[in-house]
Amino acid sequence: MVLRYPVECLTCHALYTLRISVGHRDYQEHRINCKECGEEIRVCLKVDFDKITAEPVCVLNCAPSRPGGLVVNLYPEHPIGQDEIHMDSLIPGLMATQKLYQKLTEQGEAILKKPSRSRDILIADPSAAWKLIRKSWQLLQKGKVELANESIEELRVRSEAIAKCKANVPEVLNCFFQSFLGKKIELMRNAGHVIQYCQRHHPSKYFKFLDCFYNQLWPSHQDGFIDAANEYFAVFSELNQVLRCCQLDLPLDPDAAVTSSAFHTTKMLYGNLFEILTQQFVVLACLNNVASGRKFDEFKQLTLQKYLKLDKANRANPFLINPQLASFAEGLNSQLRNASHHRAMEITEGGIVQYRSGGSGALQELSYAEYLFSCNQIFLTLCALMYLQLLLSYQFASLKKPPPQ
Ligand SMILES: [Zn+2]
Repeated sequence: MVLRYPVECLTCHALYTLRISVGHRDYQEHRINCKECGEEIRVCLKVDFDKITAEPVCVLNCAPSRPGGLVVNLYPEHPIGQDEIHMDSLIPGLMATQKLYQKLTEQGEAILKKPSRSRDILIADPSAAWKLIRKSWQLLQKGKVELANESIEELRVRSEAIAKCKANVPEVLNCFFQSFLGKKIELMRNAGHVIQYCQRHHPSKYFKFLDCFYNQLWPSHQDGFIDAANEYFAVFSELNQVLRCCQLDLPLDPDAAVTSSAFHTTKMLYGNLFEILTQQFVVLACLNNVASGRKFDEFKQLTLQKYLKLDKANRANPFLINPQLASFAEGLNSQLRNASHHRAMEITEGGIVQYRSGGSGALQELSYAEYLFSCNQIFLTLCALMYLQLLLSYQFASLKKPPPQ
């Protein structure tokens, strides 16, 4: 469904006819920059799926107006073609879905044949699910198990998948990651083969790794992930525009454009996610040591202390030789990290993100859609690593004592 919503920029009185497509979330936000004065215009759509109503609301720098302004299509869950942004009589959602379907059928995917549970909160609105999950997880971290379990009740009501599983936080986290990761779950599965190998061939060394992981890394890694997820979901309306492509492991079309553009809210996201992901790479590096027959803290050429002093960009190097772990580092862009981390990036009127290598080197460009795609890629990779660490923590809790020598 597409709603036609004429608005006026309150700064310069330019008129726009917004054509807002209805997505799956109860609340969807869109931000555009006024073509005349450059100021941000923000609108939202409040959707009631029970009463089947959708109400557009002016949030910032705009007011409902007479019809007749420049058409701007706003679509919350898919990119559209660059030349389709101002096209009238277009159903962007339909076109995007058709393109997606075509790509999936080309790859022989059966995913679209599965029955849809689109109103399950895990699928319809992972950011709303995250708010509830975060609360339960933090209660569990504080040892308040009963309160944590009570607080997942709302999730059980709103998610078929969670209602079917046991009523405890670890099960809810499993459901969340399995649903959110999409095809990126392969990262975790591949690393799972390395764990099985280590258990079978180096049980004593593996247990020492597990003990160190659980007692020295796990508490701070959970905090790091929760911070990262809070930052990611705070700007989910922006990221959701290309999330599905990442979850399905489909490349963006070269002319893909997103219709909401609030770069100032996402500028530092890539850099911050890069920091947290590479900090947690120590788990994969130590696991690789055990898989190579060494002690978990004994690298080919380094000690663990020296490893921890490496630049974040080099933290993946020790496990790149292991094909079952190397994909965690695939596509990481340390130049983009530097520019994002230091806020040394600009966006043009045409939606091109620009930065310079090393701060003053060659000009690098990518579209805002590609930038959001990179942010989603790195966050999904972090989710896969966190899911792996959750399984390690369950395993440690169930083993408790080292295996016989
Ligand atoms: Zn204006």
